[in-house]
Amino acid sequence: MNKIEQLKEIVEKSNNIVFFGGAGVSTESGIPDFRSSNGIFSKSYNRNIMPEEIVSHTYFENYPEDFFDFYVNKMIFKNAKPNAAHIAISRLEKEGKLKAVVTQNIDGLHQMAGSKNVYELHGSIYRNYCEKCGRFYSLDDMLERFYKDKVPKCDCGGTIKPDVVLYEEPLPNDTITGAINFIAHADTLIIGGTSLVVYPAAGFISYFRGKNLVVINMSETAADRNADLVINQKIGEVFEQIK
Ligand code: NAD
Repeated sequence: MNKIEQLKEIVEKSNNIVFFGGAGVSTESGIPDFRSSNGIFSKSYNRNIMPEEIVSHTYFENYPEDFFDFYVNKMIFKNAKPNAAHIAISRLEKEGKLKAVVTQNIDGLHQMAGSKNVYELHGSIYRNYCEKCGRFYSLDDMLERFYKDKVPKCDCGGTIKPDVVLYEEPLPNDTITGAINFIAHADTLIIGGTSLVVYPAAGFISYFRGKNLVVINMSETAADRNADLVINQKIGEVFEQIK
């Protein structure tokens, strides 16, 4: 049996699947990941400072103009559309087979594909809040103020901060609890499109106690040695075949 057939069989026999994913899930939608050769983490940017440093809390506080320039131009892809992986994952939820998506992505593509129970470990580009008064701003509202003033400002004078988890910032507690709970009770965990090097998110997969651990990733990951099935192919192309 080839690997796609094996994956089909696992999905067929499972009724409590959780999907755990990262930036690689959205590369086929045109959003670069951080670690592939053409990923944004491989290029230095803006006075030779690496993006990892720019998307940190310290950088946001000290150089807000540079932060927003990078964030808006390199991390927001408003025209990106869900690919075959997002669509198949959403379909599995509708069929009752998949119970939750746990994602490190901030692009909202799982929800755009129709997934309902999505744990966004690192937040979302679609939510933005004033640091001072807490007022909510949509992505378009935030962008409008960014294009006007370089650093988006609320009417109260506070800076509008994207609701994304920057390096050095903690993950939201309720999201952690929910994500771990679903992973711990899953019969199948499908890990896809993630290098599994960003912590604490990557550590959550260790709560899995179920039957089938599947990894779908272009490159090797630390989860491969414990996996029942490892597929080193593009995740969209894989999900396209398990319809
Ligand atoms: P990563 O960039 O560290 O790793 C991506 C992994 O996906 C790599 O191992 C790569 O080989 C694999 N990959 C790339 N394209 C693939 C494809 N089509 N099919 C299968 N595998 C593919 O991503 P990460 O582990 O998610 O960690 C990076 C951090 O960057 C996360 O915290 C995330 O929040 C953030 N990020 C998010 C987005 C997004 O929202 N789309 C984009 C870039 C970075």
